[in-house]
Amino acid sequence: MKILLSNDDGYQAPGIVALYEAIRDLGDVEVVAPEHNNSAKSNALTLHSPLYVHEAANGFRYVNGTPADCVHVALTGLLGYRPDLVVSGINNGANMGDDTIYSGTVGAAMEGYLFGIPAIAFSQTQKGWAHLDAAARKARELVQHMLATRLDGELPWLLNVNVPNLPYEQLKPAKVCRLGRRHAAEKVISQTSPHGDTMYWIGGAGPAKDDAEGTDFHATMQGHVAVTPLKVDLTDHDGLGSWAQSVAAAGPTRGTGRR
Ligand code: MN
Repeated sequence: MKILLSNDDGYQAPGIVALYEAIRDLGDVEVVAPEHNNSAKSNALTLHSPLYVHEAANGFRYVNGTPADCVHVALTGLLGYRPDLVVSGINNGANMGDDTIYSGTVGAAMEGYLFGIPAIAFSQTQKGWAHLDAAARKARELVQHMLATRLDGELPWLLNVNVPNLPYEQLKPAKVCRLGRRHAAEKVISQTSPHGDTMYWIGGAGPAKDDAEGTDFHATMQGHVAVTPLKVDLTDHDGLGSWAQSVAAAGPTRGTGRR
């Protein structure tokens, strides 16, 4: 098995090191990850400056770009082969609900998925790496199981996995969930720079708004590993009919002689 491993916290982050150590014997695992922290970069690609790839002493390769850049470069030339699985993480903090839109951890996995390769994004629900060993062990179990059971399909798949920061023995079984929703993000933080200019810092993510049973928020609060299968089509399928009527009604106004 050939596995491409990336993340968004940077190639030196404890999460990717722990995940590499946990899965390295499951196949040929190659790391291509951002040089610096690229959290919240979603699927951004770097189009207006060159990307460089360097190799660290431990064999990890790092790129002066985004998580999606790393996977994109790896899949379109750097690796020279097509991996069986793209794995991302383990992220320092939750990627649940609306987080998945912004997440670079999910972005790296999604880039693999967009290239037709099954992919899994792993995150711990709290920042700070508490019980990272347990999350890595759970990640290994899931990767091993998916490699054994889910690689023969025609279509790629994309899993978003959030692991509570608990000791291994206290983690409850993996549960398939839908994404919850968060409240709007907290206020922007403004400060005055030493030069007298106003600086703005993006505020924290909002608290959970929809954490009902069946969501990733609910499952992780109960101590479960939350597994959410994702897809990328942003179309509002339920709204297509209603929008078709609205848009048709917005055609040229009759009787004005204008077209
Ligand atoms: Mn991150």
